[in-house]
Amino acid sequence: MYKAKAYSAASATSPLASTQIPRRDTTERDVQIEILYCGICHSDLHSVRDEWSSIMPTVYPIVPGHEIVGRVTKVGSAVTKFQPGDLAGVGCLVDSDHTCPNCRDGLEQLCPNQTLTFNSPDRHQTAPVTYGGYSESIVVDERFVLHVPANLQLAGVAPLLCAGITTWSPIRRWGDLNGKKVGVVGLGGLGHMGVKFAKAFGAHVVVFTTSPGKKEDALRLGAHEVIVSRNADEMQAHAGTFDFILDTIAADHDINAYLNMLGRDGNITLVGAPEKPLAVSAFALLFGRRSLSGSIIGGIAETQEMLDFCGKHDITADVEVIPIQKVNEAYERLVKSDVKYRFSIDMASLKAE
Ligand code: NAP
Ligand code: ZN
Repeated sequence: MYKAKAYSAASATSPLASTQIPRRDTTERDVQIEILYCGICHSDLHSVRDEWSSIMPTVYPIVPGHEIVGRVTKVGSAVTKFQPGDLAGVGCLVDSDHTCPNCRDGLEQLCPNQTLTFNSPDRHQTAPVTYGGYSESIVVDERFVLHVPANLQLAGVAPLLCAGITTWSPIRRWGDLNGKKVGVVGLGGLGHMGVKFAKAFGAHVVVFTTSPGKKEDALRLGAHEVIVSRNADEMQAHAGTFDFILDTIAADHDINAYLNMLGRDGNITLVGAPEKPLAVSAFALLFGRRSLSGSIIGGIAETQEMLDFCGKHDITADVEVIPIQKVNEAYERLVKSDVKYRFSIDMASLKAE
């Protein structure tokens, strides 16, 4: 075991602050990674503030962060895919049981015995729970470590490990989007990646936003049209016309307003995870034979596929790089939807602690 510098929160109302955490020595299957950048996902904030207490109560202290990119510093004797000096990525998962039907199908994100990158019981018992990427290093089983294309800007790669795969997976699963009318609700970290991917697969992309100031950016990111969702006339003009909508909203909202945007057999997939249940109108589903579903991150092989695609097509997240010392300020801005479009922490700033 060794000590690593990190930022943690001591309670739901405490700010994140500098600390030292235990990390395990590399076992034979492990890869040790020096973390270069870590994205700030809204899930980090939900967890730090214990907003998902009824589903996944937070164990304190919490070290969040599951959008990790860095360089391999050490590998265990049985590691075959990585060597010191390689670029490496780690997303929301660091382990699963490898034997359940979901794991066998490459759907580790649906494994009932998965280990999340933070706030999951630690199988190695280095600490009561796993500690995430707001840290100078991490040790992960090589089966959960991804190869990072060398041509991409690393600060913008980090968010691909969660925001990227979480939008990629449902978009790919939905099928051929070419020529389809696709909505992306909420232009934040997930939403802006959803726009990039839906555009890359040939969809007619429409962004729904509550922030009129994001209109120009939405078009620059690849949207063909932008709807300000608080404008009833703009919403009405598109009613019943969408094939597929990806809902990334992090807060309570009227899902029926978006269900009514769908055409026949249209689907809304929720990836946003608001604290409180959403009220669904049966009629909004019945008319049009519409469906509502959910999706959570993606499998490991699928994540590698997404990263390779991003390397080939030069796709990264649009990031505002911050030092770790600004993380609490960044959380306040995230709640106000004031980030274009993902904070990425430059972990070199941790050296000053
Ligand atoms: P984010 O960067 O804060 O983006 C969320 C966007 O939702 C905001 O930028 C805003 O867009 C919109 N929004 C916020 N509050 C709203 C409100 N009250 N009404 C309507 N729209 C609102 O967050 P994120 O990191 O993209 O994460 C989004 C959600 O997905 C979070 O709940 C997160 O926990 C969840 N998540 C789920 C998965 C998964 O596997 N399913 C993975 C990662 C994250 P506009 O300004 O454009 O309106
Ligand atoms: Zn996330």
